[in-house]
Amino acid sequence: MIRKGRLFTPGPTQLLPSAQLAMAGATMHHRTAEFRAIYTRVLADLKTFVGTKNDVVMFTASGTGAMEAAVANLTSPGDKVLVVSAGKFGERWEGLAKAYGCAFETVRAPYGETVTPQQVREKLKPEHRVLFIQATESSTGVRHDIEAIARLLKGTETLLVADAITGLGTTHFDVDGWGMDVIIGGSQKAVMIPPGLAFCSVSDRAWARMETSKNPRYYFDLRKERKNGAKGESSYTPSTALVVALAAALDYIREQGGGDLATGRKLLVDNAETAAAMTRAAAKALGLRLFSASSPGAALTAIASPDGVDSSDIVKAFRNQFGAIVANGQGEMKGQLIRIAHLGYYDYLDTIAAIGALEQVLAGMGRPIDLGAGLRAAQQVYAEVTLPAAVAR
Ligand SMILES: *Cc1c(COP(=O)(O)O)cnc(C)c1O
Repeated sequence: MIRKGRLFTPGPTQLLPSAQLAMAGATMHHRTAEFRAIYTRVLADLKTFVGTKNDVVMFTASGTGAMEAAVANLTSPGDKVLVVSAGKFGERWEGLAKAYGCAFETVRAPYGETVTPQQVREKLKPEHRVLFIQATESSTGVRHDIEAIARLLKGTETLLVADAITGLGTTHFDVDGWGMDVIIGGSQKAVMIPPGLAFCSVSDRAWARMETSKNPRYYFDLRKERKNGAKGESSYTPSTALVVALAAALDYIREQGGGDLATGRKLLVDNAETAAAMTRAAAKALGLRLFSASSPGAALTAIASPDGVDSSDIVKAFRNQFGAIVANGQGEMKGQLIRIAHLGYYDYLDTIAAIGALEQVLAGMGRPIDLGAGLRAAQQVYAEVTLPAAVAR
């Protein structure tokens, strides 16, 4: 059969057609009234998308740029900071803390697991200036309990910085209520556009910290970027095409919410939750092991490859048979799991297709697969989630 190219990776994700079209038509100079209006609207819409009253700052960079900005702007050499690490992205916080001369301690969970608030409490000290964490650890599919960890930091001087690059659009956050000082997002995840933009919201406490922090910063200077953002500009030449695409994507999310962006964001999260629940049920019905069974997020589902099967072969078969790209494990997890994304532009049909393809791929590898068992379980989940609402209508 013919194969349509499809991305099922947790970044970059499947692109939104209206955003692609907007990009294609964007011949624009960034120091014009026309672009300033778009930039201003995008920064305002991002506040609603993140769900905060705090100012949002945006950089032309991959998501790691905003992670680096958080470390560079909020710390001084020698600062004690705490990192929660449960995978490759948690390890990135350790790398950044090291690069900026911070004395970091780590609360670590094995790959596929999260930490308990109790473990964090035991390591947390009053002198920790910042706690760095992921909302969802994309290398394993785990969701951390940000609300509980934020509660531990209430009344302390420790800032909470969350990499929510796959957490946004897949998790219901109360950013200001919980006291999330910095929450970071990236363009190639739930907002359905190509890689190249990173953004973060910053609390008053965090802005105040920057008045005394001493680490060097130039391109990733949050205060400079905020000042220019208030004028509808970016400090340097932004990716105008991506900014226009982001405007279109946020419009799409607003439309999904019947004209209300916050409602659209909630629906996007619920959409990812449903796709994730369908995929988990399918994997279990197929006798597969979920890699992050105890604390699965909705951004993606990580499925352990069956004993004796290299997940690289599953990834290859998805591509060769169906033109579909699923993600392998990262680093030491390569060969051991596949990751299927749900964040952003994935609907019921995409999810069913991915599950059907998984069944075919495993059967094709000679695994004892009951074709349709995964699909049946996924159908059941979908019906349970949506039928009461359909009947109510
Ligand atoms: C994708 C992702 C990032 C950013 O990676 P970049 O390649 O720099 O865009 C960071 N953290 C998490 C959890 C991610 O999923």
